[in-house]
Amino acid sequence: MSNVKGKVVVITGASSGIGEATARLLAEQGASIVLGARRTERLEALAAEIRSKGGAAEYCALDVTSKEQMDEFISFAKSKFGRVDVLVNNAGVMPLSPLEALKIDEWNRMIDVNIRGVLHGIAAGLPLMKQQGFGQFINVASVGAYSVTPTAAVYCATKYAVRAITDGLRMEVGGDIRVTLISPGVTESELADSITDEESREFMKEYRRIAIPASAIARSIQYAVEQPAEVDVSEIIVRPAASP
Ligand code: NDP
Repeated sequence: MSNVKGKVVVITGASSGIGEATARLLAEQGASIVLGARRTERLEALAAEIRSKGGAAEYCALDVTSKEQMDEFISFAKSKFGRVDVLVNNAGVMPLSPLEALKIDEWNRMIDVNIRGVLHGIAAGLPLMKQQGFGQFINVASVGAYSVTPTAAVYCATKYAVRAITDGLRMEVGGDIRVTLISPGVTESELADSITDEESREFMKEYRRIAIPASAIARSIQYAVEQPAEVDVSEIIVRPAASP
């Protein structure tokens, strides 16, 4: 029997890309899924699709930049399924641009969603997991958490931060609570749609030709979830074989 079956898996940014693929895959494996994002019509359709295949799914509007909404999201999950086994902190944005373009609002949005969003997930999920005596955080970073590329300085900085926070969390709470960092390379999703800088947009179009399906990242998340309780998968990097 899959070790995923019966687990309550809560996913931020579940309305597209990696979050959506992860919800689908883990639901197929018998997990109960709680979907969060801002586009609730997408979540509603995904929850209906999962249920139509015999799975269990609930959804809730979520903006990860709000600590209150994150608290409500975790409370919602507990009220529906009684506990939280896994919180996938996946929501993220990537409006790339050169620093000299001074797109300060976009820098702030990346900091708010990619860093604060993960911290809010930890702040909301950790007390419950400590009370339960079990749980697992899966934080989605990027290959950009290991090296910087032009136009991606701020985005990479947020992902370096996610990596640091995840590592620190694992050292502090490891044992009953497992902590995993998933770092995707270029993956099919809507992530590049938020790029407003023309040059960065054109570059990404070319770069994304080798993108792997979001299901490939979902499988790495499944691998981390399905290990026995005493096994912590601390870090996985999954990228296109054709990556430089
Ligand atoms: P998508 O753009 O397809 O998905 C991003 C998700 O984040 C959406 O569901 C979006 O939902 C959600 N989101 C954005 N802002 C917020 C917010 N304020 N509150 C709640 N949810 C939010 O991209 P991916 O699936 O690719 O991205 C998932 C993660 O993977 C991100 O952390 C990204 O940085 C990371 N990643 C992706 C790579 C890639 O090449 N695709 C490579 C490396 C890392 P909504 O808009 O409905 O709120």
